[in-house]
Amino acid sequence: MMEFIEIDGSEGEGGGQILRSSLALSLLTGRSFRIRNIRAKRSRPGLLRQHLTAVQAAAEIGQARLIGDSPGSLSLEFVPGAIRGGEYHFQIGTAGSAMLVLQTILPVLILADKPSKITLSGGTHNPQAPPFDFFVQTFIPLIERMGPAIRAKIHRYGFYPAGGGELEVEIDPVRSLKSFALLDRGDLLEKRAEILITGIPYDIAQREANTIRDQDLWSDAPINIRKIPSSGPGNIVQIFLKFENITESFNAIAEKGKRAEDLVRNMFRNIGEYIRSDVPVGIYTADQIMLPMAIAAVKDREPGKFRTLPLSNHSRTHIDLIRKFLDLSIGTEEEPAGNVCVSFNP
Ligand code: ATP
Repeated sequence: MMEFIEIDGSEGEGGGQILRSSLALSLLTGRSFRIRNIRAKRSRPGLLRQHLTAVQAAAEIGQARLIGDSPGSLSLEFVPGAIRGGEYHFQIGTAGSAMLVLQTILPVLILADKPSKITLSGGTHNPQAPPFDFFVQTFIPLIERMGPAIRAKIHRYGFYPAGGGELEVEIDPVRSLKSFALLDRGDLLEKRAEILITGIPYDIAQREANTIRDQDLWSDAPINIRKIPSSGPGNIVQIFLKFENITESFNAIAEKGKRAEDLVRNMFRNIGEYIRSDVPVGIYTADQIMLPMAIAAVKDREPGKFRTLPLSNHSRTHIDLIRKFLDLSIGTEEEPAGNVCVSFNP
């Protein structure tokens, strides 16, 4: 009889990460899983379009057998097959985040038998998801440090609710992953802001830029306002901090009814917290880099570690999930100031 890892999607944070990471870990380990209570703690539980696309993408890349892959489904059974690199096109069909579909399959394709070229359509700059530019500036360089090469291009921008974005990612895989110790950020080499705006009055971007210039040490920093083509209105403020050892990205997406000035000021509260902390790895980068580092530790016996801010509920839930699939030691050592050193040991 086939053995399934049993996952309860309502544990911890109870969101989509439990599903996405289960898919990736199942393909990478060859272990089947059953998940129930999918996204139980979200206001609209079950498989939404974005999650369904992630499930189908994982199944296609890993020749998996599936039960329960229908809209709204609260449970899923997933039996992985062999991973195949190649050309794939995944379409979300709504403004759901294409980046979160990519987050599901990328850790798998960096270890595939051959290179891949993936086209994804849907949202490229969504709230509560990594925006395309975060992926390019922050996430790809960390993955490339592990060995694979990744090139990403955006063809069209997609904001909620219109969606309609498209991106292309080429991946040169490796047989084995290296890991790293990322304990200090090093000196700040460059800081800059980029504001993307489409379909809404340009003066909003100017007000955002003025608010950035009002922040401590930002009066002379480069701020690039770009009008971009897209299927619907959208506006995102992005800050990139390039240190010797990591480039961290911060972003905030404009919402109707929220003042441009408040958007930027809130964002700078998070940036200030990060800067004062002295750790290299920000809150979102932490939860996203865990899975590849855990795989490197188990598959290639490469220990790795990083220092980050106090762990989010998202990260803690992610660690619990990784432990269900992989036999490794994940350390979370708290420093006196509350920062954490997360380590992955075979
Ligand atoms: P769902 O809401 O569909 O159930 P989820 O619970 O996984 O999905 P989140 O917990 O919000 O959704 O996180 C999704 C992912 O997006 C995480 O990996 C998180 O690091 C990343 N993320 C969220 N916001 C940002 C941001 N502003 N910049 C970079 N990454 C982000």
